Amino acid sequence: MPRDIRLIVIHCAATPNGRQLSTNTASIAGVIDGWHRTRGFERAVDWRQRQNPTLAAIGYHVAIDTTGVIATGRHLDEVGAHAAGFNSNSVGICMAGTDAFTGAQWAALKAVVEDYRLRWPNARICGHRDLSPDRNGDGRVTPSEWTKTCPGFDVAAWLASGMAPAAGHVV
Ligand SMILES: [Zn+2]
Repeated sequence: MPRDIRLIVIHCAATPNGRQLSTNTASIAGVIDGWHRTRGFERAVDWRQRQNPTLAAIGYHVAIDTTGVIATGRHLDEVGAHAAGFNSNSVGICMAGTDAFTGAQWAALKAVVEDYRLRWPNARICGHRDLSPDRNGDGRVTPSEWTKTCPGFDVAAWLASGMAPAAGHVV
């Protein structure tokens, strides 16, 4: 069954800006998978058989390295482990870095989001921090309410700009 996706959530890996995560032996998805194994995440065997069997844990659906390489993680119909309370109806995208990204990464993110927008035209696209609780109930999640800063840039402003690399957030 295809999932009913209502949220497309952008994350960062909280790694040094501009540092490539893939190695000679592992893709960015493999590297993140190792971190998520350590944190106790676990993918169901039937989903592993369907996509990326060597990735036992990764919580994201896709990861984008500084090179612009896009690596898949969980299957898009598989519930992720990336945004507490929102996993069942969301997909998670992770960018290597913390709050600044390469031109290749910005271009790859645009391509992924454009693809997802076609698949799920009614889904909201947001940053992880935008899912923080709206404590004062004014209908907006403001910086003082963020429980995390991920993905380190303003996703709404980025969308409004036509997905151009965010000023001040380019490596
Ligand atoms: Zn996050």
